[in-house]
Amino acid sequence: IKSPKLRRIALLGSRAVGKSSMTIQFVENVFVDSYYPTIENTFTKTISHQGQEYTAEIIDTAGQDEFSIFNGKHALDIHGYILVYSVTNKLSFDMIKIIRDKILNYTGTDWVPIVIVGNKSDLHGQRQISTEEGEELAALWNCQSCESSAKHNENIGRVFELMIGEIEKSTNVPEEP
Ligand code: GDP
Repeated sequence: IKSPKLRRIALLGSRAVGKSSMTIQFVENVFVDSYYPTIENTFTKTISHQGQEYTAEIIDTAGQDEFSIFNGKHALDIHGYILVYSVTNKLSFDMIKIIRDKILNYTGTDWVPIVIVGNKSDLHGQRQISTEEGEELAALWNCQSCESSAKHNENIGRVFELMIGEIEKSTNVPEEP
């Protein structure tokens, strides 16, 4: 039996796109409508992917500064990034482009494992970003994408599976001691 591999995954995106809701839904299988964390939280969950167990350490960034992730302790030890926007909010879609630029600047690379996620897909009447726009951006960035609803638990597990897959694609993943 292979021992689980630790993978640190950060969720980044504008406020209120559903980062905490996605994380809580994935880890605890509940949708908490009024979950307002004031600090950054880290959650752990085991994920099985292609016969390998992964211990996913999920960093749910909180607060106004999306880039606090780059301060101090996390710095360069994040394996993959889930960039979340809300399909009901064009500004949040633009924000993930800014965040990706920051990540690439910070890491000094031209590719990092990224999954882009259009959350709140259940809010049909309020859409500002089409499914195709998300897919086009993913093609441009050579990354994976999907839409999800944390509220209805649609595609939440898939988001994290895609993330593990993208991390595995990257060649230079540092192993834990
Ligand atoms: P965060 O700031 O990105 O962590 O966003 P939250 O998880 O706190 O969610 C912000 C608001 O959006 C909350 O009122 C959530 O209940 C709501 N929300 C989150 N995900 C969904 C979703 O998939 N569908 C709907 N309709 N609302 C959602």
